[in-house]
Amino acid sequence: MGQRHAEIAGAGFAGLTLATALCQRGWSVRVHEASPVLRAFGAGIYIWENGLRVLQAIGVADQVLAGAHQAPFYESRLPDGTLLSQERFGTPGRGRMTTMTRAHLYDCILAAARGAGAEIVTGSEAVGADPAGLLHVRGGESRPADLVVGADGVRSAVRDSLGLLAERTAHRDGVIRLIVDRAAAEVGHPVWDSVINFWAPERRILYSPCNHRELYLVLVAKATDAEGVRVPVDRDVWAKTFPVLADVLSRVGEQGRYDLYESTRVTRWSAGRVAVFGDAAHAMPPTLGQGAGCAIMNALGLAVALEETAVIPAALLAWEARERPLTDYTQNVSQRIAQERTGADGRSKWTPEAMRTALHVPTGTQHLAVAPEG
Ligand code: FAD
Repeated sequence: MGQRHAEIAGAGFAGLTLATALCQRGWSVRVHEASPVLRAFGAGIYIWENGLRVLQAIGVADQVLAGAHQAPFYESRLPDGTLLSQERFGTPGRGRMTTMTRAHLYDCILAAARGAGAEIVTGSEAVGADPAGLLHVRGGESRPADLVVGADGVRSAVRDSLGLLAERTAHRDGVIRLIVDRAAAEVGHPVWDSVINFWAPERRILYSPCNHRELYLVLVAKATDAEGVRVPVDRDVWAKTFPVLADVLSRVGEQGRYDLYESTRVTRWSAGRVAVFGDAAHAMPPTLGQGAGCAIMNALGLAVALEETAVIPAALLAWEARERPLTDYTQNVSQRIAQERTGADGRSKWTPEAMRTALHVPTGTQHLAVAPEG
């Protein structure tokens, strides 16, 4: 068999992880990114044990971990700081939980894709695909490939051109995501080094250190909360709701955007030689912090399936059969937690059911040693 070629729409975490894993298996890969610049949208991100294993398999875990934070605890607190619950991850059987800026994770995966030999074309917008193995790009060009991939996010043109969309919904909660500076006194502090969910009756703030300098804040408010959704953030409104965070909130600048949670579902993950995955196929509320986790697991799982089965449409069906149950499960649990606001009463949401995805050993990572604890 000669060298096989893939055309991928979307240079997000899904597309770039797949590009890396395919190049590492001898494929030639071209990634089309609609934006003129390569960058991650958003502020911070959680990567759990499952995602770290995928990053290790593609050779970037050390770089990622070097610029990430492992919080001593995951806590729930009231707006005045009263502690409701506290858990430790990274202990035997609990897996690692890491937090980092999106920019950092993106830079690491982008460098891996480039290092592995992927060609990445910016300002190149996919407008559709043909199951026979063509990616249609704006401007009229059609690129033939053994494998075509729609990793082009919630508004996926590749998915929609094939009529695969089953459902796209927005939830009642939404978020403003921000990076603010950490104060020197907070770094290494017994409370402020932890990840903390601050719960008010109608609002929530998720506080996540990313490294020594940067703090990821997620301000959660219902779409009907006129003051809560305002951008630039009304610092006084939020400080009044969360007095213990007044100092942190005083560092919030003019940046930010209010986004509703979105979910997508598709009828099938493939049509002929075209695969769709990531937010294009299975976007989910971020309540388990597993949207990108599932995207990168499915990227590696796809590269492995293509190694195992030579006939591409058959490999895509085998990939979906193996990977989709866990993704559907993760999406369902994420959605239920979002609807029920699980954890708002101070009890931990990290039940065995909620931890199943984080503790899953992804396809293509079984050979890796069990992660060091701690
Ligand atoms: P995207 O990141 O959307 O990438 C798609 C790419 O395709 C983009 O670069 C886009 O510009 C490009 N594109 C779009 N259309 C076209 C086109 N027609 N042609 C070419 N290119 C195109 N996940 C976690 O694992 N942990 C978390 O902590 C976490 N927190 C989250 C918090 C919030 C508030 C939200 C909303 C999501 C969170 N997620 C988290 C989910 C995670 O962000 C997504 O699941 C993940 O980024 C999906 O990656 P993707 O590559 O599929 O899509």
